[in-house]
Amino acid sequence: MRRDLTSKKHCGFKRYLSLAAAALCCFVFLIPRPCLSFDAGGAGNTKRVVVVDPGHGGNDEGAKSPEGRPEKQVSLTLAKKFKEKLEDRYRVVLTRTADYGVSPSQRASIANNREGGLFISLHAGGGFRRLTDLWSIYFFRASGEEKRAFADKADRRGAIPWHRVQLRHAGSSALLAEKLKSRLSRSPIGVRTESIEAPLAVLKGLDMPAVVVEYGYITHPKTAAALADESYLDTLAGVLAAGVSDFFASVSSDE
Ligand SMILES: [Zn+2]
Repeated sequence: MRRDLTSKKHCGFKRYLSLAAAALCCFVFLIPRPCLSFDAGGAGNTKRVVVVDPGHGGNDEGAKSPEGRPEKQVSLTLAKKFKEKLEDRYRVVLTRTADYGVSPSQRASIANNREGGLFISLHAGGGFRRLTDLWSIYFFRASGEEKRAFADKADRRGAIPWHRVQLRHAGSSALLAEKLKSRLSRSPIGVRTESIEAPLAVLKGLDMPAVVVEYGYITHPKTAAALADESYLDTLAGVLAAGVSDFFASVSSDE
């Protein structure tokens, strides 16, 4: 490769700048920082921390019911009920407490800085779907290249970059999905649930077991009517809280 001689005298300085930039990037990526205020919930430092993430917010409304009710509003209502069901046993952190936008990296930053024991993001599905009783729980799927890079770092006990940190929790995230799925299938809500691996941005930087619960298609009139019912959301919050307890009980028995 031909090199431009005029650039040679800046080479040392350029190298210094490159190293400084690389060091800064590592610092920024490896140590996520809180960007927003958040609700710490409950009291006491000995309780496990459950991070509940109401999807969307602010200008990002998510999907909408046929009547125009936005997913962001349903997710926040459900998240607050979920928190109520959990906070006698756990410290609960909500990634947003009102109607404002939060980026995926901000959500991960809040969860990691609060040292979450697990993370559950709440979303509705949107679009055409005939089946109203088939729900989805997503956990993170890494690409083959990401898995190889993670295995290489883990072998050499190197620092794991934030965008690969969820790979540490691949097994426990799948277990969390199974525990929630099991509770939902046995609940009065009576929905069938599939657990799916997917490369979702909101899960990527989370250093804890993490899933996205998609609680039905809000665009379907029947589901939209159920999601507008406070008592239905209350029941759903209780079912999810039972799944969280099942997960922690299972993890504790393995420790
Ligand atoms: Zn959504």
